[in-house]
Amino acid sequence: MSFTAADRTPFTYVVECTPTGKRYYGVRFAKGCQPSDLWTCYFTSCAAVQKDVALYGREAFSHSVRKIFSSVEAARRWETRVLVKLGIPGNLRWYNKTSNIAIESQAGVVRSSATRLKMSLSKQGANNPWFGKRGPRYGLKLSAETKLKIANALLGKPTGPCSDVRRARISEAKVGKQRPPFSLEWRRNLATSHSGNRHWNFGQHWSEATRLKVARANSVRVTCDVCGLVGGIRAMRRYHFNNCKLKNVKVKV
Ligand SMILES: [Zn+2]
Repeated sequence: MSFTAADRTPFTYVVECTPTGKRYYGVRFAKGCQPSDLWTCYFTSCAAVQKDVALYGREAFSHSVRKIFSSVEAARRWETRVLVKLGIPGNLRWYNKTSNIAIESQAGVVRSSATRLKMSLSKQGANNPWFGKRGPRYGLKLSAETKLKIANALLGKPTGPCSDVRRARISEAKVGKQRPPFSLEWRRNLATSHSGNRHWNFGQHWSEATRLKVARANSVRVTCDVCGLVGGIRAMRRYHFNNCKLKNVKVKV
């Protein structure tokens, strides 16, 4: 397959809905695109056109490729020029609503760290469009019902990273307190808040290699050097070695 612009063949086209006579003038420049896409696998990106396609069917449209370009830039500029020149936007015989230049997708664009730094710095402090302004939801009063809904939705979900201040506060509040034994209600709450899509591994799928790795790591058997018990590494690490009950037992000689 050969392209006019390295990895794609940008083109402009016109489609017309035969029953209504309404037309759409468009441009296509996606990676890998070619004129034969038109009306075979590409049916414009215009929602209004697609609505009529659903209504009248694909067969009710005629379509023609108008021009082929050797660069994305040229295709985009040509399209917006044609739209302006023919006064298409605002004309009810056309689907087009705007003559704005088609936005080129930024997906997959890799920028150098220098560029990223520049972009970041240009949006800092007073240069940030939000500088000195209040957020769109500032001062919003939520009803008790909404608050409850939010609380329920967040229940059991992992929180973001804890700030040092918050960490200190939590720590302070817990000093000298011992966790009471789990009540049945507490256990149930923990279970519901950790089940289904609230579980931290929900929807996570491990590759076969990862599964094998985990299985292997879990199958390691270790011997407590204090009491000599042999067991799985997780439980042993928790209850033996430095935590072994026999650690501080003085053996009578
Ligand atoms: Zn032990």
